[in-house]
Order: sequence, then structure tokens, then C-alpha cells
Amino acid sequence: MQQLSDLHGRVATDLRVSLTDRCNLRCSYCMPAEGLDWLPGEEVLTDDEVLRLIHIATSRLGVDEVRFTGGEPLVRRGLVDIVAGTAAMVPRPEISMTTNALGLSRTARALADAGLDRVNVSLDTIRPQTFADITRRDRLHDVVAGLEAAQEAGLGPVKINAVLLRGHNDDQAPELLRWAIERSYELRFIEQMPLDAQHGWRRDEMITADEIFASLDREFVLEPASEPRGSAPAELFTVNGGPATVGVIASITRPFCGDCDRVRLTADGQVRNCLFAREESDLRTPLRDGASDDEIAERWIAAVRPKLPGHGINDPSFLQPSRPMSAIGG
Ligand code: SAM
Ligand code: SF4
Repeated sequence: MQQLSDLHGRVATDLRVSLTDRCNLRCSYCMPAEGLDWLPGEEVLTDDEVLRLIHIATSRLGVDEVRFTGGEPLVRRGLVDIVAGTAAMVPRPEISMTTNALGLSRTARALADAGLDRVNVSLDTIRPQTFADITRRDRLHDVVAGLEAAQEAGLGPVKINAVLLRGHNDDQAPELLRWAIERSYELRFIEQMPLDAQHGWRRDEMITADEIFASLDREFVLEPASEPRGSAPAELFTVNGGPATVGVIASITRPFCGDCDRVRLTADGQVRNCLFAREESDLRTPLRDGASDDEIAERWIAAVRPKLPGHGINDPSFLQPSRPMSAIGG
């Protein structure tokens, strides 16, 4: 088996597949209120094309984990079939999904039956008004129902990803953690990254990991969890002696690029070796021009090799990638 290794000794085994750039929320740190110019339908990979690329990655390139994301993966019509097709692969990868959970209450069972192993649900607040302010939609009840359905369907441990925004929900970390622990959801806070379409991110406005710890420390005793972190982006802490944990993904203030094992495929068939990469490698054109699996695998290997050692956000020369998070696949 070949590997997706780069010049700095890292090997990518975790494939993030964006199934669409479209979304039914408008989180202010991700998209403008009016949405974006969505990819034209013919540029988006078909279900069969997505499955062929995943198969090449898992059968030839050592990928053992596939995470579906977007945009919002639940708005992709063929999602259940894509999950089922991935679960039927030999070797079978771990299959997870990052979602805003709108509509998950209706599809969680079918997704679990198709082979989905786990979900990460994005939820930044449990206050309806704050939710509507941040996402520009009054849909908190849908997310809560989606979380419950995911847990009932066995898509656990159900994780929650939360982004704190100054002046909106930065005072709500303890209540979100309490709420998550009561329901056995594993909460992770993510530092806001410069990946919004509006280029509105400001280093001095983001809520840092240190601020998150300070806010949680006022109510909880956090201690580093003993399990090794490995390539996981979250630093894990036990809460009040455990077994509950909380994670902090400090992409900006404590970058973990040296341990990164991820590679990304956009909805239009471009490989990105990093969220912050400024270059992409086109797999869709060769795929549609009749390239063999071997040829596509070679292109994929070549795309990962030059992955930079770090994202460079803290360098003065940092330039935000031209595609926003919703188009790359978070
Ligand atoms: N729509 C799905 C969702 O929200 O879970 C999947 C795609 S979304 C782009 C993936 C993750 O990226 C979400 O957890 C979201 O909170 C996070 N995200 C989006 N923009 C971000 C930003 N600028 N900084 C940090 N995280 C961001
Ligand atoms: Fe949609 Fe996810 Fe972006 Fe929110 S973070 S606008 S749910 S893609």
C-alpha cells in the first residue's frame, strides 16, 4: 500500500470529504448573510465520483478514516447512499460526519443503518436568541432534536463543536459545558480561524484558548486527560475529576500542524493538503477524462507531498486561502 506522506514526515490517513458547499445556516464566522455563489451543479462530484475517489484513498493510499462535511452534508441528497457505499469498502474506514444537525432527527437512524459511526454537531450556544444571532436562523430546536436522535441512533460518542465569539457567546462557555455534560455529549471549543468568506477575522478579537480556560476555571476543575493526544486536534481535560471531558482546539494559539494527519477533498474534486493551503490539485478533470485509479492515486500522492510544515497564521505574511471554510470542508 502506498501512503500520503509529506516532506516533513507526516502521513495523511484522515480524509475530510466535503459533499457540498451549500448550507442552510449562515454562521457569521463562516458565511455572509446572503450566502455565497454556490458551485454550479455540474462542477460538483457525483455520488459515484465521490465513492470512486474514497475507494482509491482507502484501498491504495492508506486512508482509514473518512469524515463527511461541507457546507452542510445533510443537504446532499445522496448522503445515505454515499455513507453506505463507503461502509461497503474493504478495508472499511471509520466513517463520521460534521454537521449542523438540521434535519438530523429525521435521518440519524438511516445514516447509522448505512454505516455512519459518529457525528460531530456544531452548536455554539443553548440560548435561542444567541443561536439566531450567530447563525441568522431560528433553528436551535432542530439542532437539539438532531443531537438527541444521533445519540438514540448510536452515533456516539456525540461530540459538539463550539466557536466562541466576543460579545455574542463568550460568556456562555460554562453553561454550554454543563448542558453538554448533563446529556453525555462531548464538548470541544474551537478557536475562531481566518476562514470566513467575508475576511472579517481579527486576531485581537478572537477568543483564545487561555480565555476559554479562564472562563471554565471559574466553575469547573479541569485536569489534562491522561489519554495521549496523538494527531487529535483537541487537547482534552477531565471535568471535576471525570469521567466527563472537555476539549479545546487551539488552532491559532497552540497550533498542532506537526501532528496533522488530515487531507481534504472539496465538493468539486480538488485535493487540499491543508485547510489553509493556497493551492489545490484537481482530481475531477482526470477522473472525468478517464484516468485510471493508479494515475489518480499518483496525483493524490503528489498533492500531499509539498504540504507546508505549518499554517503560518501567526506570520505577518499570512494570506487567507481564497476559498472559505464552507467550500473547503471544515
Ligand atoms: N455545516 C457543518 C457544520 O457546521 O458542522 C459542517 C461544515 S462547518 C464549515 C465545519 C466546522 O467548521 C463547524 O464546526 C464550524 O463551527 C467550524 N467553522 C466554520 N467556520 C469557522 C471559523 N472561521 N473558525 C473556526 N471554526 C469554524
Ligand atoms: Fe453552515 Fe457549518 Fe458554515 Fe455554519 S459553520 S454556515 S452550519 S457550513
